[in-house]
Amino acid sequence: MRKLTEGVREFQTRYFNSHREMFEQLSQGQRPRILFITCCDSRIDPNLITQTQPGELFIMRNIGNIVPPYRATNGGEGAAIEYAVQALGIKDIIVCGHSHCGAMKGLLQLGDLAEEMPLVYDWLKYAEGTRLLLKHNYKGHEGEDLLNAAIEENVLIQLENLRTYPIIHSKIYSGQLNLHAWVYKIETGEIFVYGVERCNIQAEHGEDAVYALEKVQTTLH
Ligand SMILES: [Zn+2]
Repeated sequence: MRKLTEGVREFQTRYFNSHREMFEQLSQGQRPRILFITCCDSRIDPNLITQTQPGELFIMRNIGNIVPPYRATNGGEGAAIEYAVQALGIKDIIVCGHSHCGAMKGLLQLGDLAEEMPLVYDWLKYAEGTRLLLKHNYKGHEGEDLLNAAIEENVLIQLENLRTYPIIHSKIYSGQLNLHAWVYKIETGEIFVYGVERCNIQAEHGEDAVYALEKVQTTLH
């Protein structure tokens, strides 16, 4: 805690003082254009990896960057999404997964969690679509390869879940809103961007894929 209190003092005396105008403007209201949905993992800092300032990203975090489908839960996710799109007029939603995600590791060994962490177990049920997709379509994969597939497929499935929100569906239809699937690689700082039109990225992992697929993965430099 001491590190934090020293940090607060440092923030107030240096950063705040040299950015007074920005904070004065922010006190008038917020106008973020991006809803950034990511994992609680402490190794991700959305503002750091996108080099954005306070007020630019509306951030929603939870275990595994999961979006429960519309009305599937009374949790805060739906409220945050509704507020972002309806009240703030967000133009883009990014679901950003990350390498070495503990939530995705847990999802691949769900049975072990039921007793140890019942609340995490319950929460990961909202990623059941990811778990089943992996189980049925990635049979030959294991270890890190399987985990990476889970991380990538999961962000795409969360985009599908976002589309179950009527307001999102409507705004995408009228071209007022765009969805993006990202995966941040902690060890290299890379961000991989996945095509959202297709939800089968197995061919990217399988060496003997018989059908050709357009390259869906691009890297932000
Ligand atoms: Zn994570």
